[in-house]
Amino acid sequence: MRIIDDLKLDYCDVLIRPKRSTLQSRKDVDLTRTFQFRNGRVWTGIPIVASNMDNVGTIEMSKVLSEYNMITCLSKHIQTNECGENTALSFGMTELDTETLGEGIGDIEFVCLDVANGYNEKFVDFVRWVRKVYPDTIIIAGNVVTAEQTEALILAGADIVKVGIGPGSVCTTRKITGVGYPQLSAVIECSDAAHGLGGHVMADGGCTCPGDIAKSFGAGADFVMLGGLLAGHDECGGEDMIDDGVRYKQFYGMSSDTAMKKHNGGVATYRASEGKTVQVPYRGPVADTVQQILGGLRSACTYVGAKNIKHLPKCTTFIKVYRQLNTVYGE
Ligand code: 5GP
Repeated sequence: MRIIDDLKLDYCDVLIRPKRSTLQSRKDVDLTRTFQFRNGRVWTGIPIVASNMDNVGTIEMSKVLSEYNMITCLSKHIQTNECGENTALSFGMTELDTETLGEGIGDIEFVCLDVANGYNEKFVDFVRWVRKVYPDTIIIAGNVVTAEQTEALILAGADIVKVGIGPGSVCTTRKITGVGYPQLSAVIECSDAAHGLGGHVMADGGCTCPGDIAKSFGAGADFVMLGGLLAGHDECGGEDMIDDGVRYKQFYGMSSDTAMKKHNGGVATYRASEGKTVQVPYRGPVADTVQQILGGLRSACTYVGAKNIKHLPKCTTFIKVYRQLNTVYGE
């Protein structure tokens, strides 16, 4: 047994220190980035991504986000390869996934190879195989939280490594297994490893407010994936519920009882559910939330003098804090 003394940090453990800046206005900030991926392809857009969860990674979501050049990873259970630009098809490592990928999914811009535990050797082999079959597709693969496995996935053929184990809003992995890694530190360490190899990372999970997205980019994330922050909208599908006159939408983890009953006929006897099901207050059209997120990000950039997202890490100094928000009137 070994203990690492170094304290690892979450988004809530830090704030971004403001700096003198020449930027006059939020309008001067450009949130668009262009990436040249390791395997050749180039992509330009706003690097914020809807998670491939049933209530977030929907076709309706992809239509709206695509107008902002933001990406949607479609849920494994609703996808169609007739989707437009800025959309990823998602796969796990099941026999059916392997069969579908083997038969060919057409000229898709992105695939998201998503397993709960990206530390399995079989997964690294799987990424290597997908890269061989799809030499030109942008491959997103994860999830991991440490530098060495980020490198392993990039060397196996991933363009973008998805980072995050346990930070998600409807995730119970840390509670059920005791496994996890504070997300800010995971992003700092994995992005450093990825960038050294010309690879990229997507910070996945744990953003509770627009400020967390700014912290994630400041920590070195190339892309930030969102679940809960995009839940509860018109585009999310799923069941609605009215309680005491208030409208709610169901949102559940992809390893929750709800998801496993829906897709696998129940939780297998050898495993435990690692996700929860919640009712989130209905939030209207997602475009309003997107405006708020992008506005927050532009403002963060002006506070530190970053004229675009690419410059955020260079301009970011994190300060460790015990208290990040004044919660006297709630969160
Ligand atoms: P959020 O943005 O809601 O904090 O986190 C979203 C991420 O949580 C997803 O992209 C995915 O990586 C993760 N996630 C989704 N469902 C589950 C689940 O049931 N269990 C766990 N452990 N993680 C989940």
